Amino acid sequence: MDELLGSEHQGERRQVTVLTLDALSKSFQRAGLVVDSVNLRIEDGEFFTLLGPSGCGKSTILRMIAGLEEPTSGRILFGDRDVTFDPPNQRGIGLVFQNYALFPHLTVARNVAFGLEVRKTSAEEIGKRVTAALTQVQLGTLGAARVDQLSGGQQQRVALARALVIRPHFLLLDEPLSNLDAMLRGETRAMLRAVHNESGVTTIYVTHDQEEALGMSDRIAVLNGGKIHQVAAPQEIYERPATRFVAGFIGRNNAIEATVTGLQNGNVTIQFSNRSELTLNSGQRAPGVELALGKKVVACIRAESLCISDDGPIDGILADIEYAGSGSSCIVQSNTGDLKIEVPTSVRPPSRGESVHLKIAAPAVHLVEP
Ligand code: ADP
Ligand code: MG
Repeated sequence: MDELLGSEHQGERRQVTVLTLDALSKSFQRAGLVVDSVNLRIEDGEFFTLLGPSGCGKSTILRMIAGLEEPTSGRILFGDRDVTFDPPNQRGIGLVFQNYALFPHLTVARNVAFGLEVRKTSAEEIGKRVTAALTQVQLGTLGAARVDQLSGGQQQRVALARALVIRPHFLLLDEPLSNLDAMLRGETRAMLRAVHNESGVTTIYVTHDQEEALGMSDRIAVLNGGKIHQVAAPQEIYERPATRFVAGFIGRNNAIEATVTGLQNGNVTIQFSNRSELTLNSGQRAPGVELALGKKVVACIRAESLCISDDGPIDGILADIEYAGSGSSCIVQSNTGDLKIEVPTSVRPPSRGESVHLKIAAPAVHLVEP
């Protein structure tokens, strides 16, 4: 951490436009290959999120960008400059962790100033920049407070101010909200977005939380097992998942196996195991899904795209219901397997054991490879 805090480069932000990861891989002796040939191009000023389950390699990627971990192979470029083997303190990186890693016995201002003091910045300049950074994270009046007197949310803001004060090329945030309770998480999310909007600093955010990723990011890379499954804007990730994994990891999704039984006029007809058929626009598929008669596909159907309707083609029995305020999350045992559905509060919710018929909102169905 100390290496990074010294990561000061005085004066103006250097012109670093793009962060490129080129076939970046990392193996650990026991864990094996945990980052598998990752290619990414993160644009200047983006709020970019690495999203995936625990252990998929997110932190390892971030640590390689920061210089805290050496890649096994591949390259990291800041603009045209190859920084793959540069020491952390020459990269101009601001890093914020889940556990704030502050000095508890020092004041807020001293914690924030630390990286500048290491670099022997003038006292006057330090004062100005610390005040500006604390204002940016809405802690303007707390400079003299001791860190161990602050709440968790405030401590996380100090950590953020400490990262921003060095005017980093890249702000790296590793699950920064995980230790905060739900309400503080919401507030801190809004604050992070505001800081990003104001400073324009390229931000790389790591989370396993799909809601954070969808709500905050310009673009998201979804990872599993060290591999990138999709890089796209939040809406595209949600509505047009590239793989079955992405569809299942984000939102409440039903992955239903089906067979292509018709192809005409730009439409595709698929048949489910219960023989019911559904016709879609043939564009409703992930890149790389070839359509041919008899081909097996997986139809991704969001829980909110299945509705209870007397003339629906899928018969089932309501097996479970969980009230969630804005609606109810239900499980229906059907002849195509267990299906997740969302029933809005405006609709009378069925009771457990009741038989129901389900209709699929065809325009919301998306086909992926099995
Ligand atoms: P994530 O941040 O997505 O939860 P990590 O990047 O921390 O995942 O870890 C990816 C995998 O690499 C895990 O299996 C983890 O145990 C392993 N790993 C991470 N750091 C080390 C290390 N320093 N030594 C050995 N294995 C590690
Ligand atoms: Mg991690």
